Amino acid sequence: MDIMSMTIEELSEQMAAEGQPKFRAKQLYEWMHVRLAESYDAMTDLPKTLREKLAAERPLTVPSKVVMMESGEDGTRKYLFRLADGNVIESVWMRYHHGNSVCISSQVGCRMGCKFCASTIGGLVRNLEPSEMLSQIYAITRDTGERVSNVVVMGTGEPLDNYDNLLRFIRLLTDENGLNVSQRNITVSTCGLVPKLRALADEKLAITAAISLHAPNDALRRELMPVANSFSVKELLEAAEYYTRTTGRRITYEYSLIDGVNDTPACARELAGILRGQNCHVNLIPINPVKERRYGRSLVTNVLQFQKMLENEGINVTIRRELDSDIDAACGQLRRHYEAQIGAEGGEG
Ligand code: SAH
Repeated sequence: MDIMSMTIEELSEQMAAEGQPKFRAKQLYEWMHVRLAESYDAMTDLPKTLREKLAAERPLTVPSKVVMMESGEDGTRKYLFRLADGNVIESVWMRYHHGNSVCISSQVGCRMGCKFCASTIGGLVRNLEPSEMLSQIYAITRDTGERVSNVVVMGTGEPLDNYDNLLRFIRLLTDENGLNVSQRNITVSTCGLVPKLRALADEKLAITAAISLHAPNDALRRELMPVANSFSVKELLEAAEYYTRTTGRRITYEYSLIDGVNDTPACARELAGILRGQNCHVNLIPINPVKERRYGRSLVTNVLQFQKMLENEGINVTIRRELDSDIDAACGQLRRHYEAQIGAEGGEG
């Protein structure tokens, strides 16, 4: 395992094996996870011989920034990072009144195949390591010079398809010896891998689970999301209730509105019917068109009507703040095909 994915206990064992004094692990951990050092050279209070040995044997996970785009509309920034193996991933930084939020990727590509999403077009390339998830937040913190207080795992990838690394990432991110982000300020978004969602509930973390529902019944959901062939809406809602019962945390349902497909009054009525009585919150996301896909965005009047119909049924509902289509940072627009953008930025395109 790479050194930045280790817990402080694991690091302690490692340092003991190296014949290092007891305090060494804490020192090193703090350099990596609090002071966000980019190299062992920076860790000046560590013996030079140790630094050289670690640099040779245990490289730090420090992605290089390929490009940063800032939205002219609201200052949201999209970052592209190159990983050690050359793969490029994307992260988004948003400033809210309650603090700064980072949306991170959990995989290179994705194999879930949602029909309206750009991230899945090239399939899954590989899982991200815990350190590679952390390093997106660390690099952005260094770049902005501002603390990140909220983390949403809603970028490229299906986080519950990379379950063990996700959990380790959450443990490291919320560790009081590290950045110490509050569990309450972390949201994990899933397309609905039911057994994994139940397993996550059993971890009894205080994180929010967001479920990408997008349709009120199996037939329509199967048209949009292949995962719906494996798990029914009923099974998903039961897992959601289990999550709330086990963790005490309210579920967020994401519902991306597609013109003429899932945004009709009949869909709103059906959705209200299946969610009635659940302790939940619905987040409506007018779909961001992806050029390889045929789906269009709902008309504003239909979005508002959909919202109103849910509200009238006593369901807690918000419309997702319109994010940055000018920098292609909005949901479902994160993609690995970054060359075109870099080309365009550099005036070569
Ligand atoms: N795999 C996870 C997290 C990544 S997607 C999941 O499915 O939840 C984050 C959210 O953006 C999901 O709700 C996803 O369905 C939604 N989304 C994907 N493509 C979109 C698009 N083109 N427009 C609007 N929302 C989209």
